[in-house]
Amino acid sequence: AFKISKSSIKRTIKKPLFIFYPIIIIFCIASLNITLSVLAILPLIYLSLSLSFNKIIILCTVTGIALNYIYINRLIGVHDKIEKDYLFELSYLFQVNTSVIIITVLTASFFINKNRKNIKRIELISNHDALTGMLNRRSLNQHMMNTINSMRDGENKMMSLLVLDIDHFKKVNDTYGHAVGDKVIREFSAALKQHTRPQDLLCRWGGEEFLIIIQGLSENDCLDIAERIRSIIEGSPLAISNGHTVRCTTSIGVSFFHLERIEDFHEAFKEADKLLYIAKEQGRNRVNSSPDVNSITKPIA
Ligand code: GH3
Ligand code: MG
Ligand code: MG
Repeated sequence: AFKISKSSIKRTIKKPLFIFYPIIIIFCIASLNITLSVLAILPLIYLSLSLSFNKIIILCTVTGIALNYIYINRLIGVHDKIEKDYLFELSYLFQVNTSVIIITVLTASFFINKNRKNIKRIELISNHDALTGMLNRRSLNQHMMNTINSMRDGENKMMSLLVLDIDHFKKVNDTYGHAVGDKVIREFSAALKQHTRPQDLLCRWGGEEFLIIIQGLSENDCLDIAERIRSIIEGSPLAISNGHTVRCTTSIGVSFFHLERIEDFHEAFKEADKLLYIAKEQGRNRVNSSPDVNSITKPIA
């Protein structure tokens, strides 16, 4: 199992020295000091860890020009005191050194950037379900942890959790085959996305079971959303292939909770899952909610 935390990626992207870099270069040029010129290379190497390849190319070019400018100026200042051949050798050596450092930094920067892009891609893949593109179970847990950590005091921590399960889904697989079953899951998830807000968390919890987490809406509004989803799934046939459609229904368990610790979410899930189970026992295609298990939204006959 591998873990990629968001913060570790953010840390690499931070650019603490970026602001100081032009200042160092200007300082070098102004003072025409060779030690400072070498010092200008150090932040360049450091920045290659965090800046994009394009920015590093620009910085390397600027550094190369600036350092040569400093050096040539210094040589002009002393050229009548030293031999011409020695002068030439010295300036040639310096240019080679600068070029080698710059090429090294560019190469390192190229691979670091490539690596960072790969990490981002792996993170995206590992956080999302391949079939539906929704968050997977692991990343939903991570999302909840992040939400807890980023919540400020006094913020409304009230949340609603919808646990949805497609009714008699095994029949879809048995009748039409697994491929059509997959298509139905995809269409079902698309319907969920369409009828929730972008800020709601949608997750494929497993198989044909989905979670929706809604923040900032009243219990009644959330129950309305659950009921609307139930009735839309019941009423709209899901397209499978060449004009064929499949009809299915869904049962939904809804619970409400204050998110202070991750355990609050886990307990809310247990409750909503139990309510879903009761909805299945009571005939499916219905919404069951806490706190009053008996207040069941009747399906439209
Ligand atoms: P219920 O109304 O009680 O939920 O009945 P059900 O048939 O939906 O219940 P059950 O959970 O027993 O069956 C779920 C089925 O979903 C079993 C499994 O083969 C199928 N399934 C799980 N994941 C996938 C998937 O990714 N693709 C397909 N095609 N089928 C899946
Ligand atoms: Mg099912
Ligand atoms: Mg199931």
